[in-house]
Amino acid sequence: MKTDFDIIVAGGSVAGLLAAREIAESGCTVKVLEDDLEIGLPERCDGLVSLKGLEAIGMAPTSNVVQNRIRRAIISSPKGETVDVDAERQKVLVLDRSRFDRELAGLASRSGAEVEVGQRVTAHKEVDSAVQVETQQTSYTAKWMINATGYTALPRSSKSTLPAAKYEVYGDWFDRETIEIYFDQKRSPGYFTWVIPMSDDTAKVGVAGWGGNQFRLLDEFVKQHRGVAYKKIAAQIVVGGPLDRFVSGRVISVGDAAGQAKPTTGGGIYSGGLGGLLAGRCVGESVKSGDPAAVARYEEAWRKIFAGEFKTLLRLRRILDRLENDQIDKMFKAVASSGILEKISLESDFDHHSMAILRALGLNNVFKIASIVASDLLEGLPRLGRSSE
Ligand SMILES: Cc1cc2nc3c(=O)[nH]c(=O)nc-3n(C[C@H](O)[C@H](O)[C@H](O)COP(=O)(O)OP(=O)(O)OC[C@H]3O[C@@H](n4cnc5c(N)ncnc54)[C@H](O)[C@@H]3O)c2cc1C
Repeated sequence: MKTDFDIIVAGGSVAGLLAAREIAESGCTVKVLEDDLEIGLPERCDGLVSLKGLEAIGMAPTSNVVQNRIRRAIISSPKGETVDVDAERQKVLVLDRSRFDRELAGLASRSGAEVEVGQRVTAHKEVDSAVQVETQQTSYTAKWMINATGYTALPRSSKSTLPAAKYEVYGDWFDRETIEIYFDQKRSPGYFTWVIPMSDDTAKVGVAGWGGNQFRLLDEFVKQHRGVAYKKIAAQIVVGGPLDRFVSGRVISVGDAAGQAKPTTGGGIYSGGLGGLLAGRCVGESVKSGDPAAVARYEEAWRKIFAGEFKTLLRLRRILDRLENDQIDKMFKAVASSGILEKISLESDFDHHSMAILRALGLNNVFKIASIVASDLLEGLPRLGRSSE
């Protein structure tokens, strides 16, 4: 069947634009339909990514998009116990996400993709061996549709997204190269408050959690630190883990729309971006070769890299959801006196950190922590310590 495009991409953010770049580079025709009136805005993401993750999605750390480099994290317990993690080796960058998305849109269109803003996809249906995509203004046909519309595509009933508020703040209390993380299960259950500096006197400050009023919490936090919020935004952090299937009929889900953000922190630039890149590559190959099975290789490739990691992160998420403040305080004490932080900072990989953290904890510490928190919480975690010690 003759179609308007080989592939339509719904959603013009990191996953959709990376998919479009790959599709266009394969020589197929592709159109990106983005609901917002400007690529990259409103900016919800904090843009924290490792240099390795950025390179894996084929992007360079240009001065146009890199705002800052992070070397350290200070993590605080509810009672104010702190652990200090050296992040020098992880090479963590803070990106200007709006500029990053616009750079991606430029790369996709230079490769031949059509990118159109102000085009909301309202419906799609499969007709013969094609998919018909409706927007508020018009309709298009394509051989495949990529759904890169973010968290809005996820089932509403499940606990797949955490409500968040994110501010940009002027302040004088932070250290430019240090991220601050504050745990408090009463104020931000299941998550934390974070401070990510952009410069010596500006930072992205946010909070997320099950329930509560994130804007009120953040107003209090900023006031306590005598900061001034000059930008405020509401957002949803994807923490429910990957969908059971990424491909359904002629529709391929990528990025947050496929649950490809880390269930612990919701970070998705690398894992969701790579989802978009792999999907774009495989669907391009499928259209070129006429082999529909090539599309399934996208899902296989993504799961090969992330399935094990995400399974562990989902278990850690369930623990985080159930921990009480005093358990967190005790864990911080155990961690601070164990000497494992050095190991974590040396061994941990920012993009695949779950196994490194568990391995760094080691047998004695796993047991120490298990005796502190309810023992059933640790059931099911990989038995790393047992074999490594
Ligand atoms: C507060 C916050 C902070 C974060 N910080 C980090 C971080 O520091 N590091 C990190 O790695 N990740 C972070 N993330 C996660 C990261 O932002 C996402 O994982 C990533 O942006 C997902 O990209 P995506 O392309 O899948 O979806 P999104 O970025 O959500 O983009 C979806 C796009 O689809 C468009 N759209 C929606 N519906 C339609 C429609 N019907 N038709 C057409 N277009 C549509 C939207 O306008 C949007 O542009 C953060 C998330 C939040 C909420």
